[in-house]
Amino acid sequence: MLIEPEKRPVTVLRQIILQSQNKRSFSGHHPWILASSIIEPASTPAVGEQVDLVNYETKWIGRGLYNPNSRIRVRMFTWDSSEFITKDLIQKRLDRAIQLRSRLANGSHQQALRIVFSEADQLSGLVVDKYAEHLVIQLTSAALMPFLDCIVERLFHHYRPLSISLQVEERTAKSEGMQPESRFLIGQPPEEPVLIEENGLQWHVDLKDGQKTGTYLDQRDNRLAAARWTQPDSRVLDICCYVGGFSLTIAKHCKTSEIIAVDSSERALESARRHASLNQLEGRITWEQADFFDSLSRKLDAQERFDTIVLDPPRLAGSRDHIQRALGAYHKLNYLAMRMLNPGGTLVTCSCSGRVSREDFRDMLRGVSTRVNREVQILEERGAAPDHPSCMSCPETDYLKCIVARVL
Ligand code: SAH
Repeated sequence: MLIEPEKRPVTVLRQIILQSQNKRSFSGHHPWILASSIIEPASTPAVGEQVDLVNYETKWIGRGLYNPNSRIRVRMFTWDSSEFITKDLIQKRLDRAIQLRSRLANGSHQQALRIVFSEADQLSGLVVDKYAEHLVIQLTSAALMPFLDCIVERLFHHYRPLSISLQVEERTAKSEGMQPESRFLIGQPPEEPVLIEENGLQWHVDLKDGQKTGTYLDQRDNRLAAARWTQPDSRVLDICCYVGGFSLTIAKHCKTSEIIAVDSSERALESARRHASLNQLEGRITWEQADFFDSLSRKLDAQERFDTIVLDPPRLAGSRDHIQRALGAYHKLNYLAMRMLNPGGTLVTCSCSGRVSREDFRDMLRGVSTRVNREVQILEERGAAPDHPSCMSCPETDYLKCIVARVL
C-alpha cells in the first residue's frame, strides 16, 4: 500500500531501531540503512512511509523512507529532527540539484546532462537525465513512488520539456519489489531519436530502447581526455564502445591511423555506425561485434599492437560479494590490453562498479604493471563528469573510475 505524502502524520512517526552493533553504519550519515542493521517494528510500515531511525536508547538519529521489500530498508533523507520528508522538501532538493546544473551550463551541458543524481543530490533513489527537450526519470527506489507526481510537477515547472518519461529497470524493480516499467508521464515518445551535441559531435539518443537512460553521460569529459592523450597516427582499440563514445571523440579530435571498436551488442554497434555517418567519420572506425575477452585474446595471439587502448566494461561488481571476482576480471582485461600496448602507449582504463574503490582499482593496475614488468605512469585519475557529483556520506556515488596512463 502506498501512502500519499500529504496524508502522512508528520509529527508522530514510527520508530525503527538500529541494532547496537551497527553504530558505524550510520556514523558517517550513509543514506542506506540495511535490513540487517535494524530491529523491525512489530507491524510493518508501508512502502514509502516516513520513519524515524533511533538508537537502542531511543535517541533520535535521522529520518528516512521505508520499504519493507528492499534490502535497503530505509533511505535516509535528513539528519535534522526539525525537517520532515514532505513534497516541499523533495521539491527544494530538486531545485538545489537544478541550480548546480545551471552553473555547469555550456554548449554540451545544456543539451544532455544529469539533472539529479540520487544520493549525491540527497534524493536517494532518483535519477533524472535531460536530453535536449526531453527528461527521463529513473526511479531506483520504490519508496519515492508516492512523490512521483510532485517530482514531475517540479521538473515541468523548471524545464517545460516536450516529454517526461519514467523508467524502472528490471534489476532495480526486483530488488525494490516493484514492477519494471518504461512509460511517458508527459508528452509522447519522440518519433525520431533525440539529437544532442557532445564534444563537437552529434549524437542520436534513443529514449525508447537505449541502455541506461539513453547514453552514458558520465564519460563525457573522459572521452575528451582519451582524445587529448592519443598521439597522431595512433592505432586505437576501444573495448566496450557502446554507441561509439570514445572512438568517435578520438576520431573527431585526433589524426589516427586506425580505430577498432568492440562491443557485444549488435544493436549498440548499429547505432555507432549511424553516429559515424552522422558526423562524417565513417571509414575511420572498424566496428567489431565480440566479447571483450575473446576479442582481446584473439588480437594478442595474432600479435596485434596498439598505441591507445580504452577499456570501459559494464559494471562487473554488482554487490559486495562480487568485488574479488570483479577485480580478477579487471586484472585480466588490463593484462591483455597492456601486453598489446606499444611502448609509451596510452591506456584509458575505467570501472563503473561503485563497490570497487579507487584504491582497489589502483592496486589492481599496480598488480598488472608488475606482472607484465612495465611501468605505468599515471597521467590523470578521473571520475564522472561534474553533473554526476559524489557525496562524502555515500562513497558509492564516486563510482566511476577512469585512469589515463602511459605504459612505458
Ligand atoms: N564506452 C561506452 C560505454 C560502455 S558501457 C561509452 O563511452 O559510451 C558498457 C558496454 O559494454 C555496453 O555497450 C555493453 O553492450 C558492452 N558489453 C557488455 N558485456 C560485454 C562483453 N562481454 N563483451 C563486449 N562488450 C560487452
